[in-house]
Amino acid sequence: MTEPSVFTRILNGEIPSEIIAETEHAFAIRDIAPQAPVHLLVIPKTQDYRNVAELAAGDPALLAELVGLASSLAAEHAEGDFRLVFNTGPDAGQTVFHVHAHVLAGGLPESSVG
Ligand code: 5GP
Repeated sequence: MTEPSVFTRILNGEIPSEIIAETEHAFAIRDIAPQAPVHLLVIPKTQDYRNVAELAAGDPALLAELVGLASSLAAEHAEGDFRLVFNTGPDAGQTVFHVHAHVLAGGLPESSVG
């Protein structure tokens, strides 16, 4: 069985992190190491998909739910403009293999996320 990811452990309350928003199948937290004034992570509750390519192929409705949650969070936490980043694969800086979207707003990051 796959080990629970850090995000699953946050969702289960095993690692402290405030869940700032939640939908039926997704939740959002603040990134522990922010790369922009607003840096949130939008995460499916399931860890069945390691990256956005797998998610797009396996459950496009869940991908749309993530984007919808990201948009509403950007409206709430910033002026509505935002960057949505899915690091996909270790060579692209992905470190947690439980698909998640970085929501970045309030100023462009100085470097790429990861
Ligand atoms: P990746 O590098 O996989 O695209 O993004 C993983 C992100 O998760 C990183 O930006 C990292 O700062 C964040 N992260 C890792 N562990 C924790 C944690 O325990 N709590 C929170 N809030 N964020 C975390």
